[in-house]
Amino acid sequence: MTPRPRVVIAGAGFGGLTCARALKNAPVDVLLVDRNNYHLFTPLLYQVASAVLDPGEIARPVRQLIRPLRNADFLLANVTSVDFEQRQLLTDHGPLPYDYLVLASGSQSDYFGNASLAQHAFGLKELDEGLAVRNRILMRFEEARWTVDRERRRTLLTFAVVGGGPTGVEMAGALAELTRLVLSKDYRDLDLDLVRVVLLEAAGWLLGTFAEPLREAARRSLESKGVEVLLKAKVANVTASSILLADGHEIPASTVIWTAGVRASEVGGDLGLPLGRQGRVQVLPTLQVNGHPEVFVIGDLAGAVDGGAQLPMLIPVAMQEGRHVAATIRDVLRGYGATNFLYKDPGIMATIGRNSAVAQLGPIRLTGFLGWLMWLFVHLINVISFRSRLIVLVNWAWDYLFYDRPIRLILRAADEKAPRPK
Ligand SMILES: Cc1cc2nc3c(=O)[nH]c(=O)nc-3n(C[C@H](O)[C@H](O)[C@H](O)COP(=O)(O)OP(=O)(O)OC[C@H]3O[C@@H](n4cnc5c(N)ncnc54)[C@H](O)[C@@H]3O)c2cc1C
Repeated sequence: MTPRPRVVIAGAGFGGLTCARALKNAPVDVLLVDRNNYHLFTPLLYQVASAVLDPGEIARPVRQLIRPLRNADFLLANVTSVDFEQRQLLTDHGPLPYDYLVLASGSQSDYFGNASLAQHAFGLKELDEGLAVRNRILMRFEEARWTVDRERRRTLLTFAVVGGGPTGVEMAGALAELTRLVLSKDYRDLDLDLVRVVLLEAAGWLLGTFAEPLREAARRSLESKGVEVLLKAKVANVTASSILLADGHEIPASTVIWTAGVRASEVGGDLGLPLGRQGRVQVLPTLQVNGHPEVFVIGDLAGAVDGGAQLPMLIPVAMQEGRHVAATIRDVLRGYGATNFLYKDPGIMATIGRNSAVAQLGPIRLTGFLGWLMWLFVHLINVISFRSRLIVLVNWAWDYLFYDRPIRLILRAADEKAPRPK
């Protein structure tokens, strides 16, 4: 019996997992490779960071997700590069031969070469970064409670979010509510007037990809929740206790969360292929790599172009590309050629804490409570599994009704255990 063609998919995120699922029952063997053994639902990462949800509610083991796929297996490995001539994906687990290769390793935080940011600011891309932010916020409150010096307390209780895109807006809104509605009950003896949540954005507006009235609505909503929105505020340098802006203004702050820059995963840079903006790999309109028709790039890693501009780094883009590539592989196996990818834009939305969100769905524009209901609905149906959906719903309802977030645990990573008495 001749072996079936082997499809290797590098990355079990939105693009890679969707591609594997769309190859269900295809006459191929699929191998999904990821450095994490879980698939992460990124839209709710800020809720892990702001103590609304536990990590397990927004991540699911890849093996559980591919259980229904009889032709798929998973390998936990770090992808380093590709040997296009030998048709092998190179990993720290050794080379993996492929007949078709789908590169879907996503993106990473970009600090634009600013070493101070890389050293002192928290990224918000990975699950452990979400947990680290949660730990930091809770630790700062504990520390502030027992700090005598008022100025030091103010610095400890100043939280700066850099980047006025959807992630920054959502994080700032959730953080303001965490401090104002929840922690205020735990820290009755702390002067909570000292708490500052500052959102810094280099442009003159928030949510640059949204229509003007929605940007304004988001700003007003954040300010009504106590977030200080600073526009045209470009960060030049960060230390352990302050942020220096390009105009010379200094903000004392001991927690900085960076959401302002993102670039394609480092895998893209090691391929020897032409790169576009944000280090994204240039692809043909079919999502194939020029000169290597058996190799596809999808999701944040791919610089697929629509109307002269790169498609945004968004989940619908990655998922639609994953489906398109699976269909192409099926077509090619049946002797047909590859077709061009066309993106169908389902719209964008961002939430600003309880009762407020902005949504732009084609001609429909929603703000405030209606936008929030739409956001709740869309995110709930898209959370990874039925079990997660139930738990997330219960946690949201609890938070909403009782102004309480029970997940306020400071968890140390296994490799930084607290010293124990001998
Ligand atoms: C906090 C946050 C919130 C977001 N909110 C939204 C939103 O509300 N709506 C929206 O549309 N988009 C949102 N996005 C963007 C969205 O997450 C991405 O566009 C989407 O995940 C891209 O899918 P992907 O498959 O390309 O990459 P990912 O889903 O990121 O998957 C990449 C996978 O590759 C793996 N990987 C990376 N490098 C390696 C390596 N070297 N070896 C092995 N495996 C590797 C990773 O572990 C990961 O599992 C958000 C992103 C973030 C960070």
